[in-house]
Amino acid sequence: KEYAGPILQATGLTKRFGGVVANHEIDFSVRAGELRGIIGPNGAGKSTFFKMLTCEIPPTAGRIVFEGRDITGMDVTGVCQLGLTKSYQVNQLFNRLTVRQNIIIAALAELRGKFRLDLLRGVEKVPGLREQVEQTLALVRLTARADAPVAELAYGEKRRLEIGLALASSPTLLLLDEPLAGMSPAERTETVALLKSIARGRTLVIIDHDMDALFELAERITVLQEGRLLVEGTPEEVKANPQVQEAYLGG
Ligand code: ADP
Ligand code: MG
Repeated sequence: KEYAGPILQATGLTKRFGGVVANHEIDFSVRAGELRGIIGPNGAGKSTFFKMLTCEIPPTAGRIVFEGRDITGMDVTGVCQLGLTKSYQVNQLFNRLTVRQNIIIAALAELRGKFRLDLLRGVEKVPGLREQVEQTLALVRLTARADAPVAELAYGEKRRLEIGLALASSPTLLLLDEPLAGMSPAERTETVALLKSIARGRTLVIIDHDMDALFELAERITVLQEGRLLVEGTPEEVKANPQVQEAYLGG
């Protein structure tokens, strides 16, 4: 297998909120095409780390390089247009609009830079957009629900739509913060299969509490603890680590 160089490289990434050190000098590198898992207890700094990587919040110190380009200090839209994006939250959906309309807005927001309702006007003029939207709907298995208002979706369907909104901008690197959280076992199984299909042709970094699901999905796992990178390696290496055993697997 040929090594293409890291798609993402963070160096010395640090975030302080007043006296709280949410992330401390994290060095992190992701290979193009990889599926990386990130685990760590609540408050470990996982979500803060993702927010810095997508330039939603600025780091206190450190650099972020995406596809060889320094993106530190860029804005979220610019980073999204380069092909790096993070999943949206449920509360960012337009509940009275349909599933398809939400996907269209997300796809256009990437093209035009703003996540706004009035973007729906003039959609047909954008070349290739309709096709991109239908492909996204199929990928997250919501084609049959495309005309339903978001308010009518089941919980698991809403979570799949969140992934679809992030995919609508055709990212090369997609960050998902707890895509399995709150799901029933059936929804979880379905979403793990979905994540596997999304991973084809993309680079994914997934934060989750479900260690079994992540160990099944990811080629490599990064463990964060108290804002620091504790250990990184294959699922087998991480499972065998004494500190991980102590913290997660009850010794
Ligand atoms: P995780 O996602 O691993 O649960 P977070 O990144 O959400 O952890 O939080 C890490 C630490 O940073 C926590 O102590 C949290 O309270 C703190 N923190 C996160 N965001 C903010 C913020 N906007 N202001 C102040 N403290 C924050
Ligand atoms: Mg979090």
